[in-house]
Amino acid sequence: MIMEKLTYESTRGGESGLTASQAVLKGLAEDGGLYMPNRIPGLDISLEQLAKMSYQEAAYEVMKLFLTDYTEEELKSCIASAYDSKFDQPEIVGMRKASGAHYLELFHGSTIAFKDMALSILPYLMTTAAKKNHVENEIVILTATSGDTGKAAMAGFADVPGTRIIVFYPKGGVSRVQELQMVTQKGDNTAVVAIHGNFDDAQTGVKQIFGDQEFGKRLAARKFQLSSANSINIGRLVPQVVYYVYAYAQLVHKGEIKPGEEINVTVPTGNFGNILAAYFAKQMGLPIKTLICASNDNKVLFDFFQTGVYDKRREFVLTTSPSMDILISSNLERLIYLSADSDPQANKRLMEELKAEGRYQVTEKMRQKMSDFWGGYATEQENAAEIKRLFDATGYMIDTHTGVASAVYQKYVAETKDKTPTVIVSTASPYKFSHSVMEAVFGSQGDKEEFQIIDDLCRATGVVVPPAVEEIRNARIRHKRECDVDAMEKSVAEILGLPEI
Ligand SMILES: *Cc1c(COP(=O)(O)O)cnc(C)c1O
Repeated sequence: MIMEKLTYESTRGGESGLTASQAVLKGLAEDGGLYMPNRIPGLDISLEQLAKMSYQEAAYEVMKLFLTDYTEEELKSCIASAYDSKFDQPEIVGMRKASGAHYLELFHGSTIAFKDMALSILPYLMTTAAKKNHVENEIVILTATSGDTGKAAMAGFADVPGTRIIVFYPKGGVSRVQELQMVTQKGDNTAVVAIHGNFDDAQTGVKQIFGDQEFGKRLAARKFQLSSANSINIGRLVPQVVYYVYAYAQLVHKGEIKPGEEINVTVPTGNFGNILAAYFAKQMGLPIKTLICASNDNKVLFDFFQTGVYDKRREFVLTTSPSMDILISSNLERLIYLSADSDPQANKRLMEELKAEGRYQVTEKMRQKMSDFWGGYATEQENAAEIKRLFDATGYMIDTHTGVASAVYQKYVAETKDKTPTVIVSTASPYKFSHSVMEAVFGSQGDKEEFQIIDDLCRATGVVVPPAVEEIRNARIRHKRECDVDAMEKSVAEILGLPEI
């Protein structure tokens, strides 16, 4: 059988035939669409073989299928540089069985949130791509963050030659530890800006800068070109497919499941990148039955899976799971595109409707194609109660995002009686949200200072305070820039020292 060559195309039809490295470099298509492979490749080795592999070996087996213009040597070198002692365990991810479910811990990297899984490798994929494509400009990474991406991206790109990184985060919309991690970031090529708005404002602002062709010319005149480290970059999505394959293989290895047996996955969801990676894994042949999409009070995705109507016109709620405080889940566009049989015009119409009206409705046929997804949500109270229940029952402390997933999983089981073995994706260390988790388990923390609570958390769980938290205890604040939502582009110009116009 001769396979059609794997290339990348925009979900809105404006571009096609890109190589993987070109898609990684550009991040976002010029027509505003996201890059998609023209087909989703199938795994070409058996689950039994995968069960014997290390994380790095499994990563190569998955990523080579998508990143087809990277040589074996290039890709293996990227993988080796990314997944090394930056992670606090050689397995790279943790698996913990508690209260009948398998918690897949994706927070053992340098910034203690799951964004490290992809952002440790993205800088290597991008600089390799720049070399392959003979790029001479300096690459400027623009990133909107709901708290975790910004730090993880800066940790990855700090002092990487040929790159600059500028991060926008919502002032007041992230946890104290998240904010401190960002504003103390070292590296001469890093910049952090707090915007007077929420995450959606930050994300929309960044997309607007990407779409501003005049600004693009001003950048090019100074030998800069933009790229994105947000989860819309295919170089983020592909590395995320790996840990689903690896987790499944590990369950086989440990005898928890038989090769071929179905599992469910429950994913705490914001921008829809993590759960989309699980969907890709399923399309590649990994035996996943149901993808349980867990939301917090910003339950736009829950409503979408219930009704087929995506409606962002609602109040933006600040919750204790800030990395999921999102009303425009960018990566959902890729599922919409696939569900419309990869018809870019159908997708484009819906995305234009979202922009103009703030809502869209998918067809019944498209909904049927999404029937592998089950949407649920947890309120603030339900989340806190679940964190406490699990801790009291097992001594295992989960963070507030994992709490949402765990609470939604309980609802799923109660409603469906489905006993399929389930992986609950654990996306952050509880240390990143110490205040909220301690409050959930032990009640009000009064006006205790953040680091006092962190030390209490250590005493309560016996888990050592991670270096990522220790290092901000006394670090100097290096970034103090703030701006209004409509001045983001101006901030970028100032940071890069572009001449005034
Ligand atoms: C980013 C993030 C999420 C949401 O992931 P998406 O890929 O945006 O859906 C969940 N939990 C944590 C801790 C995160 O940092």
